[in-house]
Amino acid sequence: MSETSPKLRAELEGIPTYKPGKPAAAGGPVAYKLSSNENPYPPLPGVMETVTAAACNFNRYPDMACTGLMNELSERFGVPLSHLATGTGSVGVAQQLVQATSGPGDEVIYAWRSFEAYPIITQISGATSVQVPLTPGDVHDLDAMAEAITDRTRLIFVCTPNNPTGTVVKRAELERFLDRVPGDVLVVLDEAYREFIRDPEVPDGVELYRERPNVCVLRTFSKAYGLAGLRVGFAIAHEPVAAALRKTAVPFGVSQLAQEAAIASLRAEDELLGRVGSLVCERARVVEALRAQGWTVPETQANFVWLRLGERTVDFAAACEQAGVVIRPFPGEGVRVTIGETEGNDIFLKAAEAFRKDV
Ligand SMILES: *Cc1c(COP(=O)(O)O)cnc(C)c1O
Repeated sequence: MSETSPKLRAELEGIPTYKPGKPAAAGGPVAYKLSSNENPYPPLPGVMETVTAAACNFNRYPDMACTGLMNELSERFGVPLSHLATGTGSVGVAQQLVQATSGPGDEVIYAWRSFEAYPIITQISGATSVQVPLTPGDVHDLDAMAEAITDRTRLIFVCTPNNPTGTVVKRAELERFLDRVPGDVLVVLDEAYREFIRDPEVPDGVELYRERPNVCVLRTFSKAYGLAGLRVGFAIAHEPVAAALRKTAVPFGVSQLAQEAAIASLRAEDELLGRVGSLVCERARVVEALRAQGWTVPETQANFVWLRLGERTVDFAAACEQAGVVIRPFPGEGVRVTIGETEGNDIFLKAAEAFRKDV
């Protein structure tokens, strides 16, 4: 056997691994998984039926062009088909966007802390991450991000609401920022939690993209629509960008099950958005209870809350797990807690209260 191993690209060294939210261990004390921003509701019966029927044909490849879903999205958002691209979750689409724009020597700007996939996909492309710290209030510092642009900048992610802080970027500041970004730099508005926003000052990325050829909007079926396990998301962008996404897509990446489920979900939107409304009410209840306990909670417009715990982060996560809920710690920084079932949220609130009294 040879002593050498295959040569791998040097860029892959030191890539942080994506940490999935811990599962709620079967038989263990943990009963509720509040660690991955998933939708706690089970699939709608109608969507389930559609998926079950589609499963009868999984010996066949899916429709590579996602024709049915593309048509549905085109109508739903009032955008031409040539401005749409689907992918294996919006993370898959985000990776394609970096691949299509950025290579060695190029820079990708994003806020930090933000979505943990950004540094990974940037490094895989061989590009350089430029991380711009959030403000002390855990909000995007768009002025600093604009100032970080150089002639090597190819792509800027703006995650709103931001994962993991839940904070948003408002219309006036985003427009001012977009006015400052050169037209040859792609701005990706990652709106994975768009449906959970209730603040009227938060712009709809789909409205902003229309007048701005360098803006791309990312949306997903994983959160509000409850299809996280089926892997389907999409981008809305002007023609050259959307075409580049179609070029960089893994052939047949979006399964037929996912395509059919997404179509069925768009058709059941009223019911699904009703569930989102209930989660938004739960969010208000959880935030209010935490503040009453004395916690500082940034204003969240997503399906999760952020507690900046610093050095106490890991202990807090352990205390929650002991109590029966698994949450997402970012050691040394804070915890992100998904809004889940009422009972799970109650257990979390109790654990948070007990922890505060202990310190
Ligand atoms: C969950 C999430 C996504 C979407 O992930 P999928 O790949 O569509 O499941 C994208 N961006 C952010 C910021 C997220 O939190």
